[in-house]
Amino acid sequence: MKDYSKLTRAELIESLELLEKQHAKAGAAASVVAASKEKLAASALADSAERLRAILHTAVEGIITIDEHGIIESMNPAAEKIFDWKVNEVMGKNVSLLMPSPYREQHDGYLRNYLQTGQAKIIGIGREVVGQRKDGSLFPMDLAVSEVRLVKQRLFTGFVRDITERKRAEEKLAALAQTLAEKNKELETIVYVASHDLRSPLVNIQGFSKELTSSCERLREKLSRSHLLEEHGGELKALLAQEIPEAIEFIQAGVAKIDALLSGFLRYSRLGRAAIKIEHLNMDSLLSSVTQAMEFQIKRAAATLEVGPLPDCLGDAVQVNQVFSNLLDNAIKYLDPKRPGKISVSGRKEDGRSIYEVKDNGIGIASEHQPKVFEIFHRLNPGASEGEGLGLTIAQRVLERQNGKIWVESNSGKGSTFFVSLPASVRNG
Ligand code: ADP
Repeated sequence: MKDYSKLTRAELIESLELLEKQHAKAGAAASVVAASKEKLAASALADSAERLRAILHTAVEGIITIDEHGIIESMNPAAEKIFDWKVNEVMGKNVSLLMPSPYREQHDGYLRNYLQTGQAKIIGIGREVVGQRKDGSLFPMDLAVSEVRLVKQRLFTGFVRDITERKRAEEKLAALAQTLAEKNKELETIVYVASHDLRSPLVNIQGFSKELTSSCERLREKLSRSHLLEEHGGELKALLAQEIPEAIEFIQAGVAKIDALLSGFLRYSRLGRAAIKIEHLNMDSLLSSVTQAMEFQIKRAAATLEVGPLPDCLGDAVQVNQVFSNLLDNAIKYLDPKRPGKISVSGRKEDGRSIYEVKDNGIGIASEHQPKVFEIFHRLNPGASEGEGLGLTIAQRVLERQNGKIWVESNSGKGSTFFVSLPASVRNG
């Protein structure tokens, strides 16, 4: 650093002039920097505005901004397409132009009310509303409105989406579901009427075949005392003692089979008609009454049964009782005689559902047969045990009617677990 106190006057003036020159240069540089900064800021602003414009321009959603009086300030091309208006036709006009009566008349009041009270019906929420195109035609749309607070102004941006196609698809689906439900009901009625009406001729066949048996007996008796038997002995004996009774037996076995099938159909079709009463179910007490009724069966099978603490659920008491009775009945019926039977019932809550497991260490079900056990009259091993192959079909049906589900996981030769899911009850348990 220079010691200016030791300089001569001339030297001092020279130094000052030098300093002045340097200062001027620095000043010029500073203003160049400032100008460059300004330019940069302006170009960044222009850049971001351009970017914003590009986003608005290419957005698939219609975007409309309005001021706090409901006056349209901008509309992107997607919104132009949705409402069939050009932006310059609607700029400066009230946005209520885009909605039908009575919303059109109510909109200004709604906006005013929102500005005064902050009570929002759509702003910040979004919902399905009706829009109106330039030609007056109406269409359903999803509308979400957000508020932008600037220094001196409040703006509202509406995001709109024409959902005509979606609505159409939804309506079609609902109509199809309705038709399906009606057809189902019709089919159920046919099954009901058919199985009901077919039973009376069946009872006739049963009755008359019994009569035929006794007639046959009487005939044999009478013939045994007549000379006819001596003449045609061998042939008549075979007819009366073997061929006719055998044929009648076949008829009766067939009739019994049809009878079982018909009563199965009847039970199944009655389910669709039975009224259900959904209520809070205390599953600990429901299972205790189910297991009490099965005590004898469990003892006879020399099996152990454990029932864990179970969460409550919502369902129809009678039908849920029927489902668990059937699952426990199967668990006992399909135990493996090679090992001591172990059966357990447990439960847990998961995502608003109560899920129960009925587990056994029985013969199990091969994976390829697992989906089939829910089919009507499907039995894996018909000769091995009693049953009509209807229990699980009915369980699935009754659970479906009360928003429940049933499924199985099983290892052939090791055991099966049947799962039942029902809506959890909001009460504790
Ligand atoms: P049913 O027991 O009267 O035959 P279900 O509809 O209750 O009729 O069961 C259908 C079939 O599923 C049964 O015939 C059996 O083959 C199989 N099944 C059901 N439960 C079990 C189980 N716990 N273990 C092994 N197999 C089972």
